[in-house]
Amino acid sequence: MLALNSHPAGRHFLQIPGPTNVPERVLRAIDHPTIDHRGPEFAQLGLKVLADIRKVFKTVQPVIIYPASGTGAWEAALVNTLSPGDAVLMVETGHFASLWKTLAERLGLVPEFIAGDWRSGVDAALVHERLVADREHRIKAVCVVHNETSTGVTSDIAAVRRAIDSAGHPALLLVDTISSIGAIDFRHDEWGADVTVGSSQKGLMLPPGLSFNAVSAKALAASKNARLPRAYWAWDEIIAANARGFWPTTPSTNLLYGLSAAMDQMLAEGLDNVFARHDRHAEATRRAVRGWGLEILCRNPAEYSSAVTAVMMPTDAAGKSHDADALRRIVLEHFNMSLGAGLAKLAGRVFRIGHLGDFNDLTLIGTLGGVEMGLQRAGVPHTRGGTQAAIDYLAETARQPSSV
Ligand SMILES: *Cc1c(COP(=O)(O)O)cnc(C)c1O
Repeated sequence: MLALNSHPAGRHFLQIPGPTNVPERVLRAIDHPTIDHRGPEFAQLGLKVLADIRKVFKTVQPVIIYPASGTGAWEAALVNTLSPGDAVLMVETGHFASLWKTLAERLGLVPEFIAGDWRSGVDAALVHERLVADREHRIKAVCVVHNETSTGVTSDIAAVRRAIDSAGHPALLLVDTISSIGAIDFRHDEWGADVTVGSSQKGLMLPPGLSFNAVSAKALAASKNARLPRAYWAWDEIIAANARGFWPTTPSTNLLYGLSAAMDQMLAEGLDNVFARHDRHAEATRRAVRGWGLEILCRNPAEYSSAVTAVMMPTDAAGKSHDADALRRIVLEHFNMSLGAGLAKLAGRVFRIGHLGDFNDLTLIGTLGGVEMGLQRAGVPHTRGGTQAAIDYLAETARQPSSV
């Protein structure tokens, strides 16, 4: 075991799909004296990050920033728009969709869960069917996860919007982009999301501790009549204070310094370049997985995630899965790399490679090399050389970054 106080040489590879590696410049931005959050210097910071974050969510609407992990912003999205006993339509894409459903139940909502196989994205046709059948419009919101981090499956959010509209249904569209924002293209305004939930510690390259609600005009209107209890999470007071660059309560000043630096880096690279970089690293990862002769959990190539790849462990002659957690332990102990675990019903059967955030070709090759060495060390049956397939792909498709 690595002792907690040990300092192994070289850097730790944090290749879980969030929290992700934080760039040095972002860490240095956070390492700065905390200032008066009611003073003039703070207002400049507040106005800057509130403007920048809208560009990332692709919205001209307000984006609320909470000092909370993503789950806080999930709760905020629900309590600001809904009333006790409201029906909400949710889709079982995997572990995170299931957790959001449980959270909704605890708040007194009545989720209807479209069952899923934890290998596929949202089936917009099923959403459409369900909404058409809901003639009395009991369903007040459709809640979906854009990038299901537990399975490495990305859903087509524009198709969900079309499913709602073509059913002539007034339900709000609430979208979890916690592991996609800043990694996979997402368009709050263009795709007609009503509340988009995001978080700092994945594609946005920040430590955990900030989360977001991007809100449409329709969501703001719904919040006027919503009756779930809310105080700390209430949008109205925050939006009012944000107009001048402030918050009603103490904001996470130092994380906002980090957010500012992360936005500078991301917007300088260009969002399209950021997404293309993620797409390319995801494709290289899949080539490595296939090279090892292992199976990708996501069934449909159109739904492959560019942020995370979930890999199924091979089974032995008796049909029993090799232990993914034993593999992850060996990779951590021998190669100082953390890989994502299989969650809930996937525990022990899959491991997840996070390839999002502050990430380049050599980060990926180090990551895949660590996985391949781990497979060998753990005695997991595989074909050698998957990493070489990724090297070949990266070498063939390499181009100079547009801004260095
Ligand atoms: C990480 C994650 C969450 C949970 O967010 P926390 O920051 O842990 O509260 C929710 N949804 C998705 C899709 C995630 O990836």
